[in-house]
Amino acid sequence: MAKPPIRTAAPRIKLAGTRVAMLGRPHTGRRGYASAWARAAAAFRRGNPWCLGCRAVGISTTTTVVDHVRPPMGDLDMFWNTANWQPLCSRCHESTKKRLEHMFMRGEISVADLWLNSPRAIGMTRAGVADPAKG
Ligand SMILES: [Zn+2]
Repeated sequence: MAKPPIRTAAPRIKLAGTRVAMLGRPHTGRRGYASAWARAAAAFRRGNPWCLGCRAVGISTTTTVVDHVRPPMGDLDMFWNTANWQPLCSRCHESTKKRLEHMFMRGEISVADLWLNSPRAIGMTRAGVADPAKG
């Protein structure tokens, strides 16, 4: 007599899909993905309110970006793994982290260097990263 759990689960999924469709939003898969990330990132920012890169050099700056330490490159497990996330301000993200990622892609540095509290990152942040000669 007991109903298998799948009978209660299936209508919920259908209902959720209907609800999204009723909002008139195309590409529900992509939108669902984006909103899931927005929610996860917001929760991470709440738990990590200060930029890691700035804190590493003694400054308190509000987190505005949830950065993937190692670029996931389409790897969903890596994308959603919070152990691969770091809280950054937009300045650190656009300057120090961007340069570190370029170096990482060229095989010049390790994953550990991509954390903005790593010795290499701290050195770059301290030196000021607006250095066109090193681009
Ligand atoms: Zn910062």
